[in-house]
Amino acid sequence: MAKKGEARGIINLACTECQERTYTSSKNRKNDSQRLELKKYCPRCHHHTLHRETR
Ligand SMILES: [Zn+2]
Repeated sequence: MAKKGEARGIINLACTECQERTYTSSKNRKNDSQRLELKKYCPRCHHHTLHRETR
């Protein structure tokens, strides 16, 4: 039952300090068109940093 043409897209979250793409997520592009920013733990920086949506 796979739906096609959904507005939900897969995004990557990259650390703003080391640029490492540590996390992947999905979001509904209709609901928020702005870039997602989340505080997450970066295993490369060894502490919590701001992660920003990238493609
Ligand atoms: Zn980092």
